[in-house]
Amino acid sequence: MRELHAGNIVTYVKNQNLHVTNICKNLCGFCGFGGSAEDDGAYCNDKVAIQAKVRLALKRGVTEICPLSGVHPEFTIDTYYDLITCVHEVGPHIHLHAFSPDEVVHAASRSNISSAEVLGRLKVAGLGSLQGTAAEILVDSVRKVICPKKLNTAEWVRIIKEAHAMGIPSTATIMYGSCESAKHRAEHLGILRTIQDETNGFTELAP
Ligand code: SF4
Repeated sequence: MRELHAGNIVTYVKNQNLHVTNICKNLCGFCGFGGSAEDDGAYCNDKVAIQAKVRLALKRGVTEICPLSGVHPEFTIDTYYDLITCVHEVGPHIHLHAFSPDEVVHAASRSNISSAEVLGRLKVAGLGSLQGTAAEILVDSVRKVICPKKLNTAEWVRIIKEAHAMGIPSTATIMYGSCESAKHRAEHLGILRTIQDETNGFTELAP
């Protein structure tokens, strides 16, 4: 199927994750990364530290940076906007694949603006594509067990479709192997397929 669409050439990008903070408001039960601000080892990198990481990435030939962080309770649209400009100050041509639908909803709520306004401002700042993370399993009964503080299925779908409609592509993800059943996985993939049929905005599926 891939060959039918893309021919017999396989391409790749050099991507690097960039951890801005491990402080997170969600504290999902399955996660070994996010924690609270009071935990030993809690950190939030400043501009100098972030730009040093970007310089190192450029030396390695990286062309895409993927900020992966906790959903810091105090971050607003300005924090996310500034992160993009901070990276592009050092590497203006780096593709920023950033922010989950949960972070979009968080930025909107913290900043008293709509999610569309958040996405619009991030696009203007230079966001290349939105992360399809925070999807886990798009079945609310499963989400209530593994990530009760994250946005629900309908909200995830709404944000992703909103981004695609604004010309911001995204990835899609599935996190399987917790308490979900095969039926739940099929429901999740069905939701992703329906969105893709409608928007064609997914660039990949990351399991
Ligand atoms: S939102 Fe992400 S970083 Fe935060 S606890 Fe959940 S999985 Fe971990």
